[in-house]
Amino acid sequence: MTVYEIDGNVYINLTNRCSNRCVFCVRTTSDRYKEYDLWLKKEPTAEEVKEELKKHDGGREYVFCGYGEPLEALDVMTEVAEELKRRGKRVRLNTNGQADLIIGEGVAGKLKGKIDEVSISLNAPDAAEYNKICRCEFGEEGFYSMLRFAKECKNEGINVKFSVVNIPGFDIKSAQKISEETGIPLRIRELIK
Ligand code: SF4
Repeated sequence: MTVYEIDGNVYINLTNRCSNRCVFCVRTTSDRYKEYDLWLKKEPTAEEVKEELKKHDGGREYVFCGYGEPLEALDVMTEVAEELKRRGKRVRLNTNGQADLIIGEGVAGKLKGKIDEVSISLNAPDAAEYNKICRCEFGEEGFYSMLRFAKECKNEGINVKFSVVNIPGFDIKSAQKISEETGIPLRIRELIK
């Protein structure tokens, strides 16, 4: 399923691909999220997503998010986001932030004016812990890429936030320190089961 609604928000699922294999990812424990089967048999085109969105015109917010990593489908995402902004919608991206490793440089600039808010999974206080939790295909470099992308989004004037999942033993204080040092707010969210 590509487009679905939860609590008045519209969620857009573009791909199964992700450069992480997070230990807490809902994909590792379930084939579904709530009642929705989110494993895609085929990635949608921008036209297909736009057509599907016509059935979901009243959303409070439009969110590009999992099952996979939306940046893996950057071209489709930006085309759909452009259309949503033309229609006056508020648009958010939930991402692992590894933009320059997945795509290359300059992704934040491509999002400017199309994405109102970028929520980046911080997930860990340092690169080694990040790689333990996120099992990134790029190794510890994934952590540094995520931090670079967060700063680039901020520099582009995009509203950016870090999010962390409150898993047992997580070092919230260190995450808060990164948040303070970068000037990027931190949101602590509960584990999705
Ligand atoms: S980054 Fe998101 S979609 Fe990818 S493995 Fe982690 S929780 Fe799952």
